[in-house]
Amino acid sequence: MSLNSLSNRRETRRIATVRWAAIALMVAFALPMGPVHAMSEKKEIELGQEEHQKIIAQYGVYNNKELNEYVNKVGQRIAEQSSRPELEYTFTILNDEMINAFALPGGFVYVTRGILTHMNSESELAAVLGHEIAHVTEKHGIRAKNRQTFMEGVNQAAQVLSGVPGLYQMGQIVNQTALMGYKREFELDADRIGAEYMAKAGYSPDAMLKTIEVLKNADRIEIAQARLENRPPRVYHGFLSSHPDNDKRYREAIEQASALRVDYDEFIQQDEFLDRLNGMSYGDVQRAGILRKNRYYHPKLGVKMSFPAAWRVEALAVGIQAASQTSDAMLSLTTTPKKRGVSIDDFVSGMGLKIREGRTITIGGMPAYIGIADRAQTPFGIRPMRFAVVADDRRRMAYLLAGAGQYDLTKIASDRAFISTIFSFERMDKQDYEEARRPQIQIVRAEPGTTMESLAAESPITNYALDKLRVINDLYPKGQPAPGQLIKVID
Ligand SMILES: [Zn+2]
Repeated sequence: MSLNSLSNRRETRRIATVRWAAIALMVAFALPMGPVHAMSEKKEIELGQEEHQKIIAQYGVYNNKELNEYVNKVGQRIAEQSSRPELEYTFTILNDEMINAFALPGGFVYVTRGILTHMNSESELAAVLGHEIAHVTEKHGIRAKNRQTFMEGVNQAAQVLSGVPGLYQMGQIVNQTALMGYKREFELDADRIGAEYMAKAGYSPDAMLKTIEVLKNADRIEIAQARLENRPPRVYHGFLSSHPDNDKRYREAIEQASALRVDYDEFIQQDEFLDRLNGMSYGDVQRAGILRKNRYYHPKLGVKMSFPAAWRVEALAVGIQAASQTSDAMLSLTTTPKKRGVSIDDFVSGMGLKIREGRTITIGGMPAYIGIADRAQTPFGIRPMRFAVVADDRRRMAYLLAGAGQYDLTKIASDRAFISTIFSFERMDKQDYEEARRPQIQIVRAEPGTTMESLAAESPITNYALDKLRVINDLYPKGQPAPGQLIKVID
């Protein structure tokens, strides 16, 4: 099938990712096994620059000049206090919902939109940047052990690949690899040294503890959800994963660094920091179309549909795919060209499916066909497949909706869910166009009586809205906002 209309940047991103993986693999093998100092600074910077281009191609830069300048300002301030202040540092916000921060050799430091979403003060940002700058100054990225870490990442990625049918895109897998972090010794070094840098720049190293707490909470809910959904969790593999709560060495390092703290009161206050995040996109922006709660809109094609509660929607290279909470049922929406004069019956006959219970109907006012295809190719293998074809003659194309379940033999276990989803497919009306906004962060002031429950009910977050809102506001697991407090909501 040719499915251009629903395709998006993921496709190029995936290709870029595959290349990135191959190149990273070669780099990993080419790394010197000798002492760190075997690599000249010039070479180190060259290596960083090369990888930087690939990272940018893979993730994309978050296009917000003010926010980028701000992150750069905080980063430069800390880098000036580092052991390699002469190095030219580049700080980049990556347009990705993953919670991540990492550094490449030679001074390239990254934070994702996802990690910024979880921050509540400049000191927390300084903590993350300090840690990553320390990876640069300590040359962790080019030490020989990196190769081993990378191979562990590749192996983990292979497990992820085999575990879940269809849903996992290479991008996520490579993210996991990039996210692996370094061995524990390097991570502790980066914490200790990063804490020193931030203290010398005037920030309280205690903020590291706060950052770790927030990111740990984000991991906790992700792990719980992943368990419910029978999928591998996408957790932050950076410094946080290496810290048990009671890590003594770590707390001592924070205390020692605190003694180095200089006076600096120019950093912005919490309210002002939160204001900088106002308007930042939330969630997956690469997906074709817009998802709000369980409603999916494709404004360019002018169609919408609703998925069952607790299902999740992911981008395919050629459309979208929704999975039931436990990942044992999936439904995809793709498009295919269809000539105007061809009747829907003839069109379906031409698809070469073995069909039972088939009939022509109308879906969302468009001529359509619904049926079950026996022995169809699905993400779970050869299965019976509930499918519908909806003709859009104006666009000379047809929508193909196809659902299948992991355990189906002849009966389709999730057929009712598939059918109700198929019949929710409709053209967008004027009001839909107003509602189809991409979710973004809004900073609002809590009023007396504002509860996280009421904010979650209004939010467009698809699943687990209450937990997610609490985590990004550091109110997890049971907190409520104080009246007058600035909080992040998703609008
Ligand atoms: Zn680290």
